[in-house]
Amino acid sequence: MLIGIDDTDSREGMCTTYLGALLMEELRQYGSIIELPVLVRLNPTIPYKTRGNACVGINIDTSCPDKVIEHVISRVSTMAALDCDMTNPGVVFVQDDEYESVRDTLGIFFQRAVREVISIEEAKSFIEKTGLKSKGFKNGRGLIGALAACGSMLNPGWDHTFEYLAYRQREKWGTPRNVDKESFFRADSTTYPETWDTIDVYNELVVCVPHSPDPVLYGIRGKDPEVVKRTAEKLSTEPLGRSCVYCTNQGTDMHLIPVDSISKIKEMQSYIVSGIVSGDPFTIPGGHTIFSISDKSGASIECAAFEPTKNFRSLVRKLVQGDIVKIYGSFMNKSLNIEKMEIVSLAPLVASHNPECPSCRKRMESAGKGQGYRCRKCGTKSSVLVQVEMKRDIEPGIYEVPPCARRHLAKPLVRFKDPSVKIFPSR
Ligand code: ATP
Repeated sequence: MLIGIDDTDSREGMCTTYLGALLMEELRQYGSIIELPVLVRLNPTIPYKTRGNACVGINIDTSCPDKVIEHVISRVSTMAALDCDMTNPGVVFVQDDEYESVRDTLGIFFQRAVREVISIEEAKSFIEKTGLKSKGFKNGRGLIGALAACGSMLNPGWDHTFEYLAYRQREKWGTPRNVDKESFFRADSTTYPETWDTIDVYNELVVCVPHSPDPVLYGIRGKDPEVVKRTAEKLSTEPLGRSCVYCTNQGTDMHLIPVDSISKIKEMQSYIVSGIVSGDPFTIPGGHTIFSISDKSGASIECAAFEPTKNFRSLVRKLVQGDIVKIYGSFMNKSLNIEKMEIVSLAPLVASHNPECPSCRKRMESAGKGQGYRCRKCGTKSSVLVQVEMKRDIEPGIYEVPPCARRHLAKPLVRFKDPSVKIFPSR
């Protein structure tokens, strides 16, 4: 039986992945858990997400499904942050004999939940039509993620990575985390690039330890379950309450929709789109760097490297009109929030100089408004400025924001394998 769970946490505490880890231990009394649980990240632009728009899924082989259902619903009702207005848990169960009838439709639902916006009514009507067992709490919004989690387990084969999530002991929740930061740098140096986003080298930060009051102590992301566990074993931290390795769509770019025209871009979706830089980059108060791109459809769009993207903004500021770029990012509040950028080609950057005197080899001076240039020494005159092509100090290739600004779903460049493009990972 598949179990999908979503929307149990609030900004003040809890985390749906924690509930997943706990259930992984408790549900063993009813049968055997098949494979790793899934941690699926959904559309990152959804405004009512608590943090990273995650849902979780567990696959259990059981002869007593009713007991499992009762246990899961009881755990969600006692552990979810139900007092929080924004918390609307949902749980969905798909039993073995229902797999075939819902496999395809739930697979599509999962894909759409990662890329589009789905209404609560659509989720409820899907459940009504299919007769799947479920429980929605309050407005039931969590049913959307719970269905998506089941859809992901019914349709394996999507690009995936792994995360080892370490959780704090209950009594420590909400207190400062006790971790030896140096041990994270040391552990990372032994397993990068098979693990990633543990630390941010350029900004000298440990990025895998959250600062919110939730139960997570840290999360190690990587290419297989063994390497994430091995990295975790090297860390010095406060004692763990529990831990769990999840199979996840994090780091896969599953949210990005390739489009061939800027005119197809809609709010609250994420894209890969090409264009020509049509407005020079500028930085606004707050440190966000903005520029525009346009394409042959005549449409143009504003692209933004926000302040949290730190050193990535200095790359963006080097773009000039005429450069051709491919942007990877989410379109929200009328701007494309850059996660990665491929510089496809660079426009020539031309600077103008006063001409040089052919006899004295000295730079001429202006002879007055509209009167050309004159050599101060010998009086030779010229009417034309000299155009010089400047060297660009960026090169074509693909660049990414640093780990401290990485979206959960964004595929880090260490996972890119395209030999036709030069790859500039953030370290
Ligand atoms: P949690 O740890 O509780 O999962 P979170 O940051 O992952 O925290 P949620 O609290 O789950 O965010 O809130 C996100 C809500 O948005 C959930 O109710 C989920 O069902 C819903 N949701 C997710 N994806 C979509 C989507 N594509 N369209 C509409 N609603 C969505």
